[in-house]
Amino acid sequence: THFGFRTVPTEEKESLVKGVFSSVASSYDVMNDAMSFGVHRLWKDEYVGTILNPGRRGPVKCIDVAGGTGDIALRILDHAREKYADRDTSVCVVDLNPDMLREGETRFKKTMYHNTSQVSFRVANAQELPPNEFPDNTFDLYTIAFGIRNCTDVPAVLREARRVLKPGGTFACLEFGKVGNPLFAQVYESYSFSIIPLMGHILAGDRASYQYLVESIRRFPSQPDFARMISEAGFATGEMREGKGGAWRDMWGGIASVHMGVKM
Ligand code: SAM
Repeated sequence: THFGFRTVPTEEKESLVKGVFSSVASSYDVMNDAMSFGVHRLWKDEYVGTILNPGRRGPVKCIDVAGGTGDIALRILDHAREKYADRDTSVCVVDLNPDMLREGETRFKKTMYHNTSQVSFRVANAQELPPNEFPDNTFDLYTIAFGIRNCTDVPAVLREARRVLKPGGTFACLEFGKVGNPLFAQVYESYSFSIIPLMGHILAGDRASYQYLVESIRRFPSQPDFARMISEAGFATGEMREGKGGAWRDMWGGIASVHMGVKM
């Protein structure tokens, strides 16, 4: 495609991605904290606050795709309960990688959501969610956090997101973006290209996987290009304008950004 996602053949990339996340699964949460100095927590909190607030009425049926160890799912359920006394909102956590999901399940065992209908875990590919398990027009909210850049075929992910959402349902994505300020961009580049693989090596004994993660961030499209793809997939993306002229919201100068769209 014109965005260059297909440089690696699909199956090859998928098994590569699977391998990466299998090898990082047990160290994933610790590494996230280490590499981002805990900042990913702030981003995720802000993200969940943003995607759950607008025009909220009653419980929300959510699907958290590429949900990994359940970081977003847990925040959604906590937010609904703490802010709205809502114990009916539910999240289906979907991931390609059973090892990541297992970490998530173990973690949820320590929460009050364990063994309730509020949370479930399913192994599936974001690019082709099996229609018998994930029928059309099912969810109010589709979220994918730090996951879409690992997918080989982003338009296919968006197509599936649109399919499983109810009309008027929300697509939300938290992902690494491009840093606008050139000076900051340079600092960030040198940090991510040298320090992150090194930390992967020292803390998790795995340089290659973290090298891959950094490269996947670099290859992912810029915020305006990604916003265009979302809109081309049949979502209304005007929601986040708020006078800022963009269909996304940058966090930390664009290191991460939130994109949203409403199924038309
Ligand atoms: N959303 C979690 C978070 O924010 O902490 C996990 C993000 S983790 C960086 C990316 C996840 O995407 C991994 O668990 C990986 O297995 C999953 N993944 C990669 N490609 C996928 C695909 N095609 N379909 C579903 N999940 C995928």
